[in-house]
Amino acid sequence: MTSNAELFARAQKVIPGGVNSPVRAFGSVGGTPYFVTHAKGPHIFDAEGRQYIDYVQSYGPGILGHAHPKVIEAITTAAAKGTTYGAPTEAEIVLAEMVVDRIAGLESVRFVSSGTEATMSALRLARGATGRDKIVKFAGCYHGHADALLAAGGSGVANQGLSGCDGVTAGAVADTIVAPYNVVPEIDNTVAAIIVEPVAANMGLVAPAEGFLQGLRDACDAAGALLIFDEVITGFRLSHGGAGEYFGVTPDLWCFGKVIGGGLPVGAFGGPWELMQHLAPLGGVYQGGTLSGNPLAMAAGRATLELLDHAAHTQLEATAARLADGFTQVLNQAGVDAQAPRVGSLVGLFFGNTLPTNFDEAQALAENGVYPKIFHGLLSRGVALAPGAYEALFPSLSHTDAIIDQTLEILAQAAVDLR
Ligand SMILES: *Cc1c(COP(=O)(O)O)cnc(C)c1O
Repeated sequence: MTSNAELFARAQKVIPGGVNSPVRAFGSVGGTPYFVTHAKGPHIFDAEGRQYIDYVQSYGPGILGHAHPKVIEAITTAAAKGTTYGAPTEAEIVLAEMVVDRIAGLESVRFVSSGTEATMSALRLARGATGRDKIVKFAGCYHGHADALLAAGGSGVANQGLSGCDGVTAGAVADTIVAPYNVVPEIDNTVAAIIVEPVAANMGLVAPAEGFLQGLRDACDAAGALLIFDEVITGFRLSHGGAGEYFGVTPDLWCFGKVIGGGLPVGAFGGPWELMQHLAPLGGVYQGGTLSGNPLAMAAGRATLELLDHAAHTQLEATAARLADGFTQVLNQAGVDAQAPRVGSLVGLFFGNTLPTNFDEAQALAENGVYPKIFHGLLSRGVALAPGAYEALFPSLSHTDAIIDQTLEILAQAAVDLR
């Protein structure tokens, strides 16, 4: 049997850091990543034959759990007919119709291959449609790795045009304003769009304060700017109709990813026709993709969304509540200051006795040194959380009450080491 350490050493010889996305390298928790051989439902299995209850679920796409038979069947059936054509298919129409049906206010949608592409393209569209250059994002919100969205932020005041990443030029972020989450920024008529995670799920889980999203809506309306909800995590997870339905605030543009691809590479962005008509071939905002609307990906997305009915969302929320309440209770009983905040079916985990409302507060808790200990305490006992304190927990529909309870028993054992 090849060990995880051997695979990691081999990987590091041919892949930067041994991984194809940085958080997977265990840099912030220490140790060696587990290399996955297969997964089923709530479980993931590594190269050493270990089984883990998995709360990573690919950071969101695994809302049904791993390898759901309906999704596998859809992908297999599609694959047998050819994997990509470079010509339109009915499968794209079907998935687009499902998205349009679910999201009130969204009339038209374009499929891409990642969440990064979705946000990048939505920003271009917003700038093209408004004829304005500036965008506002919030510190601690992640929108993928397009240059303009890798601006530095994190302090308590809005700042502008600072690169947050080597290789991102000052020019690329010159029109990006980074503001603190949960404070409605003052914007003027140079701003094309405000982009926001309606529930921030990339700085742990930070809920929008009462009135924050409506405040953004009002600020955008007053300035003639567009409001973009980055629903790459919240979409098709938070509720049937997404964050707009959940909070009663309708953005101008939506970005999707993760769940919408059923585990295959899919992103999407959409909005009303008035805006979407600016996209090529109808309008002057260019956007395209060789594998966009890929038939396997469309089939996986369709199979996934078909299973996500209202009952599924009710079940997922109950599962999330059992997990979040259980985490808080078990850790507190063990004398550990911790809270597992929950918004709908989204769950976070912070080690402290207050809940953060913005990036500075989230960062102080995420960097307090407790997370790596609980991470390894759980991993060594068969529960996999994300290898980083800034990630949410992703229970799936395959996480039964028994699986959650098993998780909590393991947590109680791991918590002993924290005292
Ligand atoms: C994951 C994520 C993205 C980026 O999606 P990729 O598919 O990784 O490019 C964008 N926005 C949010 C909110 C995300 O969580």
